[in-house]
Amino acid sequence: MATNDACANCGAAMQGEYCAACGQRRFRPEDRRFAHLVTESLGTLTDLDGRLWRSFRALMLQPGRIARDWIDGRRAYWISPVRLFLLANLVYFLAPVVTDLNLPLHNQVRGEAYRQLLPERCADTDGVPRCQWGGQYHSRLTEPLFMRKLARERDEAAARDETFDAPGFEHRYNAQSGAIGKLLVIIHVPFVALMLWLVAWRRKPPRYYAEHFVAALGLVTFVLVLMPLVKPLLWLYVLGHRAIGLPGAGVATIFGYASLAVILAHFALACRRCYDSRWPAATLQGVAAFLALGMASIYVYRPLQFVLALWTM
Ligand SMILES: [Zn+2]
Repeated sequence: MATNDACANCGAAMQGEYCAACGQRRFRPEDRRFAHLVTESLGTLTDLDGRLWRSFRALMLQPGRIARDWIDGRRAYWISPVRLFLLANLVYFLAPVVTDLNLPLHNQVRGEAYRQLLPERCADTDGVPRCQWGGQYHSRLTEPLFMRKLARERDEAAARDETFDAPGFEHRYNAQSGAIGKLLVIIHVPFVALMLWLVAWRRKPPRYYAEHFVAALGLVTFVLVLMPLVKPLLWLYVLGHRAIGLPGAGVATIFGYASLAVILAHFALACRRCYDSRWPAATLQGVAAFLALGMASIYVYRPLQFVLALWTM
């Protein structure tokens, strides 16, 4: 076959098997057949599949590997870090577990405010007052919004001569909050990236913000995948505790600390790989990234989730 003919896709002169201008493979007469259509489609699928599992394994077992390769320009080997995050985000919210990222209404408002919605659930039992909890740090700030929404819905129900459906209100809020949360998880990433930029700013060579962002994306994706795994493990343990008498006291606490340790270790290892840090620096960077994640969750994610869910429900 000639080596200098024109590319069938863009018309550039061809040298070798692939077009240097557009990347299309050399067009052959047999490419017009049906068998080619099938094998090509299957090839694309299995290639995506292979890269997906490879990327997933690296995400869980080789902290910072994908981000480091991305920074070094070795990118086609992995699924794009953004796509990997979106996949984890999707799977996370399919997993039917309530975790720190999907807070129901009673976790988002103070007990006093919850009492305004559902007084019967807050009735004193045997003289012990209930609904005493303090809510989130943002609760005092955002409570007027909640109260206004509540008053408006009450008025609307009264105008229609209906009784206000308080449990329905809570149910609608929780559903909306879950939907909003799905779109909002990514809000953690720029803050973790900012922290990585701060704690790694003197490292050579200097990194672009986008590179810190990709490193942060890897950390948040790891947490997203890990969190739904912890609860089923805990349930399995509790079952084992009932069935064969494994020690039961404080198991939830132990699981909490264990997953915290796993996350911190992962973060430190990832920082070590991404920034060529020595152990002490990598540990500090990992802890800082974790603090940024927690603070973004408490001070940004939760209030935004609350306000947006109220606003759009
Ligand atoms: Zn071409």
